[in-house]
Amino acid sequence: MSGLRRFVGAAETPPPPPAPPVEEVCEFCGAVTGPAHGHVVDTEKRSLMCACRPCYLLFTPDGGRYRSVPDRYLTGPRLSPAEWDGLGIPVGSAFFLRGEHGTAAFYPSPAGATECLLNLDAWRALGETHPLLAAALDEVEAILVRDGESFLVPVDACYELVGLVRTCWKGFDGGTEAHERIDEFFVSLRRRSSNG
Ligand SMILES: [Zn+2]
Ligand SMILES: [Zn+2]
Repeated sequence: MSGLRRFVGAAETPPPPPAPPVEEVCEFCGAVTGPAHGHVVDTEKRSLMCACRPCYLLFTPDGGRYRSVPDRYLTGPRLSPAEWDGLGIPVGSAFFLRGEHGTAAFYPSPAGATECLLNLDAWRALGETHPLLAAALDEVEAILVRDGESFLVPVDACYELVGLVRTCWKGFDGGTEAHERIDEFFVSLRRRSSNG
């Protein structure tokens, strides 16, 4: 099936996405950062590093091994059910990350960020119809979609959502608390996103 590409076990498998760091210390200089701080992606290890403000400002979002994660949140297009189904994603919400090996799709699950099949041709076509979907910067920004609603977000926001699902999800359907927390996450995402 052309266009379908499974990353797990494939020859060019990129490493799994980074786990969110838990320490509130700058991973470059050791300074205490506090809970609100910037992140830097190490594109070689594909890990997310916490950074104090001066260290964060040493890097740019594009190019180089270390890239600062920008802080822009944009509201994207609403995808029709047909557009979403065309991507071949088995769940209703996922995020899309582009790196040097191309784009990969992940969904938040109780086990962490789980990679899923993505129809790359359909994704490319969707990016031509809705340019914002192709506008996320490699490695540091992602497109997050839930029930057809889309956003361009910093990659650390996706890991915040992944962490939320991992810690709150209970049983088969997640339970009330998990759904409430996820709804809250999207309410605040809507609030801070501007029109892209
Ligand atoms: Zn620092
Ligand atoms: Zn951090």
